[in-house]
Amino acid sequence: MEQIIIHVDMDAFYASVEMRDDPSLIGKPVIIGAPPDTRGVVSTCNYEARKYGVHSAMNIKEAYRLCPDGVFLTPDFRKYHAVSDQIHAIWEEYAGAMEAIALDEAYLDVTETAGTFDRARGFAHEIKKRVLDETGLSCSVGLAYSKIAAKTASEENKPNGYFEILTAEDFVNLMMDRDVRDIYTVGVKTAEKLHAAGIHTMRDIRENSSDVISMLGKHGQMIVDLAYGHDDSRVVAYRPEDAKSISRELTFQEDVFDFWLLADVLLLLSVSVVNRARSYGLCGNGVSLKVTYSDMKGVTRSKVVKYCDDPLTVHREAVSMLEEVSTRPIRLIGVGVYNVTPARAKQMTLDQMAGGKDSDTELDKAFEVLSKRYKMDLVKGGDIGWDNLHSLAEHMRTHRGQRGSDYTIYCIEQAGLERVLSDRDGIQIVSGHHPSDDLFLIAPLFFDMDVHHVRAPHGE
Ligand SMILES: [Mg+2]
Repeated sequence: MEQIIIHVDMDAFYASVEMRDDPSLIGKPVIIGAPPDTRGVVSTCNYEARKYGVHSAMNIKEAYRLCPDGVFLTPDFRKYHAVSDQIHAIWEEYAGAMEAIALDEAYLDVTETAGTFDRARGFAHEIKKRVLDETGLSCSVGLAYSKIAAKTASEENKPNGYFEILTAEDFVNLMMDRDVRDIYTVGVKTAEKLHAAGIHTMRDIRENSSDVISMLGKHGQMIVDLAYGHDDSRVVAYRPEDAKSISRELTFQEDVFDFWLLADVLLLLSVSVVNRARSYGLCGNGVSLKVTYSDMKGVTRSKVVKYCDDPLTVHREAVSMLEEVSTRPIRLIGVGVYNVTPARAKQMTLDQMAGGKDSDTELDKAFEVLSKRYKMDLVKGGDIGWDNLHSLAEHMRTHRGQRGSDYTIYCIEQAGLERVLSDRDGIQIVSGHHPSDDLFLIAPLFFDMDVHHVRAPHGE
């Protein structure tokens, strides 16, 4: 069936809200994110700041170096949520189904409600006008025959833009000679792989489609389809304000009975869940683990954790729950956060104020270890596309044999010493019994590579 899809995306959302509420900011570069003396990142910046080369996801210190006179603000999610509810309500009036993919961004299926592209064009302009009148903020709108084409169209004339792509042919003509990186769903790593294979444009994808598919599998097939304008994905009704939980799960091609591999895969799932929650400006207040065994029987475990908006925290909780349930081969594993609430503005920790390590740096370190352990590339800053998750997990499963000495292994000669280690060194410890002897084996996942023998002091 033919589809008529609108994609709406607010322009520099957080920054625009701040400028609206404090007109003295207008004309100045405004950067929303972590405090500039920490190691956090930029969430959003306005177009003035972009002129200095600042962009979202950039290290905040780098942003400060490029634009020292900019106004640096921490995000006020309660405010953004209120505006988000307001714009979602406007958009929903036009849509048969609305799929919000961020606080400030949604797909609207207007196939039934508009009926024709002509009327849908009217909707698009009405939406822009009403959003501006009712919130004082501008947005960019794309109208198209498919979701990805609509997303592409809304990017085309940003900010305050409108663009339409009404047929697959128009989409192909527009994109044919652009870099593969401009194709939505092609991330940095995928683009690098394609470039390395001499595939630079959508034209190259069409001419080398079997190579692309053999290189990237299912995702490759999807990219090849897109190179012909084919995309029949549907708008799935979803409003983040109704979300109770956010989760990710994956099924292995073959059952897995390797605790450490599962623990490593849980890191990817945790990052993916937290990234998704962050894009909705949400955080969970509990962590859940779901496991399905090879006989299809499953268990779930959950634990209350207030304001868990950090992937390493989610991961640590998930791994500790996995310890309780990992007794048989596992075919599916999933992680979620539940009782979601609007995220708080990020508080600086004492460590951060002292310029010490913070969780983003820790995550980079963890990714480095995983990259080395499984001989794969993970993007710094923890950006894992949903399309990558399965293929990364499968890669890890099939390369787990190569993993080896890069865990710190503490051979503890007396049970209970793990607590001493964790208190004394402040490190994350996951424990289990060594399969080959009686030693209690502790393997902090992301630290050094040496084996330390730890003995109980005499008399203890
Ligand atoms: Mg936006």
